[in-house]
Amino acid sequence: MSDETRPRVKPTLMRPGGMIPEASAPVVTPLMPSVVYASETPDALDDQYEGRARGYTYAREGHPNAEVLARRIDALEGIEGGLVTASGMAAVTAALMGICRAGDHVVGGDQLYGRSLRLMREDLPRLGIETTLADQTDAEAIAAALRPETRMVLIEVVSNPTLRIADMAGIAALCAERGVLLVIDNTFTTPAAVKAVEHGADIVIHSVTKLLAGHSDVTLGWVAAKDPELKTAITNFAVTTGLTPSPFDCWLAERGLLTFGLRFERAQANARALADHLARQTGLKQVLYPTRDDHPDRARAQAVLRGQGGHMVTFELEGGRAAANAFAKGASDLAFAPTLGDVGTTLSHPASSSHRALTPEARAAIGISEGTFRVSVGLEETEALLAAIDKGLAAARDAG
Ligand SMILES: *Cc1c(COP(=O)(O)O)cnc(C)c1O
Repeated sequence: MSDETRPRVKPTLMRPGGMIPEASAPVVTPLMPSVVYASETPDALDDQYEGRARGYTYAREGHPNAEVLARRIDALEGIEGGLVTASGMAAVTAALMGICRAGDHVVGGDQLYGRSLRLMREDLPRLGIETTLADQTDAEAIAAALRPETRMVLIEVVSNPTLRIADMAGIAALCAERGVLLVIDNTFTTPAAVKAVEHGADIVIHSVTKLLAGHSDVTLGWVAAKDPELKTAITNFAVTTGLTPSPFDCWLAERGLLTFGLRFERAQANARALADHLARQTGLKQVLYPTRDDHPDRARAQAVLRGQGGHMVTFELEGGRAAANAFAKGASDLAFAPTLGDVGTTLSHPASSSHRALTPEARAAIGISEGTFRVSVGLEETEALLAAIDKGLAAARDAG
């Protein structure tokens, strides 16, 4: 490591000494919680602000741990200049509110993440940005929602919790033809299955909280835009509104990311095994896994996900809420917790969590009943995982 790349600490009266010079270099990125960065002179500061020299000033504007993490995620997605934000929702907010202005119109998939839906339904309209939600599995439905003033289309490639696959080819062609920005929230699919820019994304978003960081101990997001002007707009909005991540969270996420590829493969292998196992059991109405032959979008899963079914499995129990309660209790070796992407398997019950704001009829319309569970499959030993699920299924059958 040269002196220029070695992290240096400014010695001052209050904090004399700085760092003790050394001939060795750490192999792990140092955690740098400093909020402020000292420069030598006003001229040196000018050089920094005008991009002639690299450096930091104030952590809300950027800090080394966020930058190191951002470059790692950039490499995974094959896009440059991504920004790490304090949460996945901060990334969604920065992309939408950093670019759109009053009078613009935004089209969103009708099965987006719950808080993204809320942003579309409540907050953007309040600020004069109109929105329309449409079925992302059907490019014609998206086309019908477009208006002359539509600025962007926001979609997720795989819907939560029903695991339907978006019509990526149709939507990408439509957005290109109509000059509308395509924004892809790639959290669910991850860059291991989908490189969003290869599917026409102008802007890519992640909740790093989920599989990328992978250990349920940080809340972070990432957003990248291909166009440098859009990137600047997003960054300025995030810095002004303080959507800045904590250095410690970035440092933890960088560590988590080191094993992302391994964790994805293992979780996916477990998810496939679980889906096939569930399909052989009684007491279930339906099992959904993208690459299974009985999935409604399996041809698209082959084309869009390149056969990578991912780490999520959804199933529907017979017997409604009573069976659901019994299942969660019976499967108590697994966490009943509304998240995804953890090293451990987590069970989510959309009707009582992510989709509780919808009426039963609205839930039924998108295929969610009181018996629906979404499983974010973790890295457990496969047989132990299936046994834990079987305990839940046995309890659900007894309750029914
Ligand atoms: C969790 C999630 C988000 C929000 O991310 P946070 O880090 O919880 O703010 C956004 N989109 C998708 C698809 C998610 O799963």
